[in-house]
Amino acid sequence: MMEERTGASPPPSSPPGGMKGLDLRTPTADDSVNGVMPQRVVWVRNAKEVVQVVCAAAAQREPLVVRGGGTLLSIGNAPRALTSILAMQNMNRILDYSPEDMVVTAQAGTSLAALDHELAQARQRVAIESSQPQTATIGGVAAANSNTGAAYAFGYPRDQILGMTVVDGNGRILEVGGRVVKNVAGYDMPRLFIGSFGTLAVITEVTVRTQPRPEARENISLEFIDQQSLKDAQQRLFRANLPLCNFDIDAEPDGHRLRWRLHLSTEGSVKDVEHARMSAAALSRGGSPAPASPGKPQRLDHSANFVARFSTRPGVAIEETSDLLTTAGAIVETPRAVIECGGALVRLYAECKSSAEASALTAACQEKCSALAGALLFERLPAEQRNHVDVWSGPIGGLVLMRRLKEKFDPCRVFAPGRFVGGI
Ligand SMILES: Cc1cc2nc3c(=O)[nH]c(=O)nc-3n(C[C@H](O)[C@H](O)[C@H](O)COP(=O)(O)OP(=O)(O)OC[C@H]3O[C@@H](n4cnc5c(N)ncnc54)[C@H](O)[C@@H]3O)c2cc1C
Repeated sequence: MMEERTGASPPPSSPPGGMKGLDLRTPTADDSVNGVMPQRVVWVRNAKEVVQVVCAAAAQREPLVVRGGGTLLSIGNAPRALTSILAMQNMNRILDYSPEDMVVTAQAGTSLAALDHELAQARQRVAIESSQPQTATIGGVAAANSNTGAAYAFGYPRDQILGMTVVDGNGRILEVGGRVVKNVAGYDMPRLFIGSFGTLAVITEVTVRTQPRPEARENISLEFIDQQSLKDAQQRLFRANLPLCNFDIDAEPDGHRLRWRLHLSTEGSVKDVEHARMSAAALSRGGSPAPASPGKPQRLDHSANFVARFSTRPGVAIEETSDLLTTAGAIVETPRAVIECGGALVRLYAECKSSAEASALTAACQEKCSALAGALLFERLPAEQRNHVDVWSGPIGGLVLMRRLKEKFDPCRVFAPGRFVGGI
């Protein structure tokens, strides 16, 4: 259980003297983080300014939340306290790009669209995508370890990022990782900061590997009314080892049964894509072309006020999703689920019409998570529910070590206190 928060903003105070010369702005309602209003928004232009903000915040014990594009800022518990938003979008330069080495370094506030534009000229790209590429930043996707694109083939930012520069809570500029694909010595430090949701350090620069831009990409969507046919198709596709870059399944109730849609994407040369499309269609027998084939499930479901993300295993993902939807269907009207990345994770989407529905669905998800022995993250909850629930559920290994890392990198607890697992 979490302590209840009122969401009221603290009385405004003047910025600490250490923030002199910075671009400080008055917050608007859009700057609140899960209902908690900051007192100011600081727009930084370079790492030196980031150090200045962090040192001033640490000296005054004034917590801050780092913001990239702000598209995923709602994920996490509400901060215990919040004085400043550290806005990164003016740190948006590409610092070094060598197409022949297939590596690019950009400031953390660079949008994915700007990065893609630059790389397109050398017929390359980074294999990290966002549903909002104009807004999402390379620092933000790194901090959230999110990839809505070809994750089935390329994995998540953890697998694509080679190095980064960060400013920790002591105001130290730390360079971690490098600019080569095979870093042979030392701990893989960038991984520590990737997925840390801005609770350990401010990421100021990111070095990421680039990939050749595919000549062609095709999406295939097939509908299944029978769960076993879908499962058989999934297993045949796994064994065939086709060049698939996306492998997602979505499911929703249709009367008394579930309607399943399998969404595959393949990319490469025109010839390879055509071959993969034909093989995938043959292996997916039992399915019929889905009407209005969307290619990829619409993950960005704005109508849902409840989104829960489960870690699962490909071998059981279809059965578990079926079970989850049956349970959810008894609580809310139109739950929907998306199985991503071949079955690595499942997102449940629902529209809760009352707090009773939200509480019942939250409890059902927690129960399901215990049965799966995997992690559960409530990515979105109705406001009244959010204040009573720890959004990070399930077994969390290494919490003691994580707390020690937090202590070392952020001793004054300036970075988003209370937002992360275990109240970190
Ligand atoms: C409705 C919705 C659905 C989405 N669905 C998916 C999905 O299904 N799968 C998926 O993989 N992704 C998904 N995304 C994520 C999407 O790709 C995000 O746009 C992206 O990950 C976040 O980038 P951002 O710059 O907007 O980060 P922000 O939203 O600004 O920040 C995200 C987190 O990173 C921290 N942060 C940001 N920048 C830095 C920095 N420089 N240093 C340290 N910490 C920082 C923030 O404090 C915050 O905790 C979804 C986004 C939305 C809005």
